[in-house]
Amino acid sequence: LTKKQKMFIRQWKNLAKQESLPFLAHEEVNALATLMGVPPQPVFEYIHRKFIAPSAAQSTNNFPLPQSHALANPQPSSASGYSFREANQHMPAATLESAENYVFACHRRRPQSDGRRTINDGPFRCTYGCGYRTKRPFDWKRHEETHEPQELWLCHLCVQNEDQNPFLVNRKDKFLGHIKGSHKGWEPEKILNMSKLKFNADFNPRCPFCAEISTSWEERCKHIIGHYEDEI
Ligand SMILES: [Zn+2]
Ligand SMILES: [Zn+2]
Ligand SMILES: [Zn+2]
Repeated sequence: LTKKQKMFIRQWKNLAKQESLPFLAHEEVNALATLMGVPPQPVFEYIHRKFIAPSAAQSTNNFPLPQSHALANPQPSSASGYSFREANQHMPAATLESAENYVFACHRRRPQSDGRRTINDGPFRCTYGCGYRTKRPFDWKRHEETHEPQELWLCHLCVQNEDQNPFLVNRKDKFLGHIKGSHKGWEPEKILNMSKLKFNADFNPRCPFCAEISTSWEERCKHIIGHYEDEI
């Protein structure tokens, strides 16, 4: 974009601010891009960089979002207004603590593997910045969930046996493996159903590539996969 075009966007955005529009819908940005005679993508990116990313870092109160969810891109969920304990206060105290420890450990995984995954290949890149990439959207989504778990299973049998360290995991296949390995003679699928926690997960509803806000994790993943597929 030229200087003049950027100036035009800023003026236009100031106008929108006076009308207290929290963010721009796709159609508005498309209209603006058409008005300027440029493709919409750089306009999206400029608006995101200039207005959305910085204001999200300063304040989380200006945006009316569903359920006080996260705003800024790779920011820890503490900045989002989401509170693990508040969102999951229905859990028994011991379960709440185990689940919290598990999810926080997933969050801390972010910087650890930074830049080391150079052998990975493919258009689907981790949005949490660990460097993972893959050719398969299914694997990508599952990887995203290693950073921000969306489902949790706490082994009912371990709990019943008063195991000090009951098995807790965010992946169905790993849970079934635990039952087969540690609780022989039990029906894995049945224990799976009994062990699923009623868990209200956090997620950042804002797309890291455009101004789109998703209302669910599934929708978010589908939307981001769409961006990567556009690149292929
Ligand atoms: Zn990652
Ligand atoms: Zn178990
Ligand atoms: Zn997007």
